[in-house]
Amino acid sequence: MLNYETALKKLLASVPRLQSMTLPLSEVAGRVLARTIRADHGLPPFDKSFMDGFALRSADASTAPVRLRVTGIQGAGRVSPELSVEPGTAVQIMTGAPLPKGADAVQMVEKTRRISESHVEILAPVEAGTHVAAEASEVRNGDLVLQAGQALGPAEIAVLAVFGHSQVEVFQGLTAVILSTGDELVAVDQEPDFGQIRNSNAPMLASQCRRLGVEVRSMPRLADSPQAVRQALAEGLACSDALIFSGGVSAGEFDFVHKVLGRAGLEIQFHKVAIQPGKPVLLATDPERSKMVFGLPGNPVSAFVTFEAFVRPALRKWMGHRQWGLFEVSGCLTESVRHKTGRLLFKPAWAAFVEGQWRIQPLETKGSADIVGFARADSLLLIPPDVEQINSGEAARALLLPDHLDLQQSPEAMP
Ligand code: AMP
Ligand code: MG
Repeated sequence: MLNYETALKKLLASVPRLQSMTLPLSEVAGRVLARTIRADHGLPPFDKSFMDGFALRSADASTAPVRLRVTGIQGAGRVSPELSVEPGTAVQIMTGAPLPKGADAVQMVEKTRRISESHVEILAPVEAGTHVAAEASEVRNGDLVLQAGQALGPAEIAVLAVFGHSQVEVFQGLTAVILSTGDELVAVDQEPDFGQIRNSNAPMLASQCRRLGVEVRSMPRLADSPQAVRQALAEGLACSDALIFSGGVSAGEFDFVHKVLGRAGLEIQFHKVAIQPGKPVLLATDPERSKMVFGLPGNPVSAFVTFEAFVRPALRKWMGHRQWGLFEVSGCLTESVRHKTGRLLFKPAWAAFVEGQWRIQPLETKGSADIVGFARADSLLLIPPDVEQINSGEAARALLLPDHLDLQQSPEAMP
């Protein structure tokens, strides 16, 4: 059976090429920048005060206290071009205002005393450059400020705004369709009859997609029949980039997804990977290599884990990100775990950074159907296929789940 690393290589090599598009700045949050941005002017654009106070000549205030004549006021955006600071004078200045001609420093208002309308006493000495941000001292004209492939969060959006990019070239977004197979599934708002269960994978996978910034189209659950799968496949390929099947990829009598995909002319890149949970996971591509079709096993924990282990890196690479997988940490195991060798184990766990190191606590759950037990985890302990046991206190690796900070138990709750 394919090991995880080999499957991941195949997966990443199957990711289609992405187009870029131009969007207004207000719509680029979470997108990936498609082109490198350089500064077209320095920052700050002028010598700027970063305190409220008095602009002066440092030569006049090398010792203090000293009295200076106040000749005017300079506010941010309220600039008097004729203002200048002559020897023995000062100009009252506000944070963000350009330094008037002649001044080379600012004393903050807290270290001054206004003694009259026309005079101020500087109470502490000032050196040249004090409380002044010199023109282009933060960024020089031509500096690289954002790199292609960078995800656009709030700070990056501010950088784009600073340099006037009201329209931004970003990589295209993706659309995914979630296709849940299973005769036993009923909608969330329905009461299951005997032998039926609610479809929990569809909302789970949809939220996993949305968290990546992927638009989701949901379809009603599919019956376990080749016709139903064939028709949904055709519809899904017509309206989206990625298709995510849940269920129907195992060896059961009514598992039709892989068979239908093969017969429909899709190329099966892999089916079955040596991981636990999630062994039956499947990836197929269309002949034009413009779509990806994932088949995730139906057990909820398997579907969750295979989404994070396969769908996430594929979609993130596709969208132009430079970082694809979950964040991996190395730490110290707090409780021994045994492992039946042969497959890479993703074991639900808690991970907390305590006193300078990650502590990883394996969680006991009832396995790949036990989504309630799994929902307590904030991370996945990784046990390599050939490792039979990791003892308490030994080194181990874990993947932090995307909402790790929100999911995390308080460190006190950990043993
Ligand atoms: P399958 O992969 O189709 O063999 O399904 C494996 C197990 O997962 C079975 O117990 C199914 O009832 C369950 N299952 C399949 N699809 C879903 C779903 N959408 N939501 C919750 N459980 C599911
Ligand atoms: Mg099924």
